[in-house]
Amino acid sequence: MSEKLDKLRATFDAREIEALLVSAPENRRYMSGFTGSAGYLLISRKDAVLATDFRYIEQSQQQAPDFSIERIAGSLTWLPDKMSDMGVRTVGFESDHLTVAIHSKMTKALEEGGREATMVATTGVVEELRAVKTPKEIELITRAVEIADAAMDRVGPTIEPGMTEEQVAWELEKTMRELGAEGPSFDTIVGAGPNGALPHHRADGTVIKAGDPVVIDMGARYQGYCSDLTRTVFIGEADDTFRRIYNTVLRAQLEAEARVTAGMTGKETDAIARDVIVEAGHGDDFGHSLGHGIGLAVHESPGVGPNSDGTIEDGMVFTVEPGIYLPGWGGVRIEDMAVMENGRARVLSRARKLEV
Ligand code: ZN
Ligand code: ZN
Repeated sequence: MSEKLDKLRATFDAREIEALLVSAPENRRYMSGFTGSAGYLLISRKDAVLATDFRYIEQSQQQAPDFSIERIAGSLTWLPDKMSDMGVRTVGFESDHLTVAIHSKMTKALEEGGREATMVATTGVVEELRAVKTPKEIELITRAVEIADAAMDRVGPTIEPGMTEEQVAWELEKTMRELGAEGPSFDTIVGAGPNGALPHHRADGTVIKAGDPVVIDMGARYQGYCSDLTRTVFIGEADDTFRRIYNTVLRAQLEAEARVTAGMTGKETDAIARDVIVEAGHGDDFGHSLGHGIGLAVHESPGVGPNSDGTIEDGMVFTVEPGIYLPGWGGVRIEDMAVMENGRARVLSRARKLEV
């Protein structure tokens, strides 16, 4: 853990802060190991404090040995007191996460504390550290991937006309739990026929019919870490339209996985797959990013889309998920997870893909 603290502290100068107040749950867990649902970290160059309420005192002591635990109640006066104890006057806060209401209460507490103190808005400080995974994290992510793969391979072949999307989603979620998942990493998407073309479709009472392409997007959570997997199956004998669309998407995916190298921007990576889809005449039918980073959160750094200027580096874990969506017909999306290693992508997902 202290290696993470060192890395975090090394970013303070550039951001002109003396300490960081961490409030985002994933960031709190990442930096401290504490999995409880409430609390703040206050990290300065010398000190690391975990402030939480009475429910979590014992748990935080066990899970966050590098932090001194501060028991807090409803009021925010602990912040000026602690900052003063720690000799900190300028504290960064996570502006993507801290609500305006809490921020103004904190500012007020600082003022009333009568001490000279400044709160500086920051974004992405811990998120940038989280983008590069440790070997231990890659191990946990791999387990989350294996669980989703096994559930997909078990349930996928059992899908028959007459089943509803919800039934399929439930079978998948149940199987992931049986295989050791804490739960799904997000609401399972099962999109049969035209539903597969709707980006926000989840899984409902729609009955799956022969001749439907079915997009299944799911993931498992294992010790906090997420997987994300999409396969598209076809109910019955694949027709020419499906074959053409499916093979275009698959080619786009395989090209991106084979050709992405460390140091490429998310935008360049996205373009590898997008070019294949554009050449096939479906550029307008691929309306989302090629992928996203994944870890404690399903969507995190690095970005892998047409506007992602950040680079993909060794140790980063990300998805590769091109798709083609035709309104009224349906969609095809195929999603793998990969880790950048020795400059190349190593694909983690092993769930079977259709051969059509
Ligand atoms: Zn997905
Ligand atoms: Zn995804």
